[in-house]
Amino acid sequence: MKIIMLGAPGAGKGTQAKQIAEQYNIPHISTGDIFRENIKNGTPLGAKAKEYMDQGLLVPDELVCDLVVDRIEKDDCSKGFILDGFPRTIPQADALDTALKEKNKQIDYALDIEVPDENIVNRMAGRRSCKECGAIFHLQYNPPKEENKCDVCQGELVLRDDDKAETVKKRLDVYHEQTAPLISHYEKAGVLHEIDGTVDITVVFEEIKKILGA
Ligand code: ADP
Ligand code: AMP
Repeated sequence: MKIIMLGAPGAGKGTQAKQIAEQYNIPHISTGDIFRENIKNGTPLGAKAKEYMDQGLLVPDELVCDLVVDRIEKDDCSKGFILDGFPRTIPQADALDTALKEKNKQIDYALDIEVPDENIVNRMAGRRSCKECGAIFHLQYNPPKEENKCDVCQGELVLRDDDKAETVKKRLDVYHEQTAPLISHYEKAGVLHEIDGTVDITVVFEEIKKILGA
């Protein structure tokens, strides 16, 4: 099962992708998580990516495509994978299609989680992410059991640098300009599924399971 998640920043891609990965036993590959891990470890890739991320811009395609193509060729992806945050541009989608086509494969499901822009700022302002394991919470909609502590690993919960209101606005503009065109790309490929992302997290997941076959 080869799945990609589409949707604006804050639509709930990561929240759902983690649950899908667990339910269907496939790896969850988040390019945002990979960049944040590199930033944490002080790698050259992390330093480069941070310049763009802090401004709400996309990291250039050439820094992202090979990384993902190499990752999905690993053994643990043989039964499928879920890509979260990739592709984000048409050239990225083309690179993915080409890499899969070489192996006679293709994306099976593009799950587009739809949330209007006016809900996004609130989603991002309340998002808290675990510094250690990347688990995602929301102060209102998915609060941790203990204030500022990750339910999974007890790590510290933080507001991401790029979730500040002024950066969120830029990220939304970038989404509409560069990423939203992917919706019609996957519609043409016949694999697009649109999902209402404004309802409760558990309801969104139920909808996704109906699509994927529970
Ligand atoms: P994305 O990966 O698309 O950027 P996240 O999964 O990190 O989005 O979700 C953004 C924020 O919104 C998080 O704080 C998350 O807990 C919260 N969230 C996710 N899905 C929902 C939902 N259906 N309703 C309310 N809040 C949600
Ligand atoms: P995310 O965790 O998916 O919200 O990603 C955080 C940031 O990482 C984005 O705003 C981009 O700057 C960068 N990023 C993540 N995935 C990609 C991608 N596929 N292409 C370009 N930039 C990306």
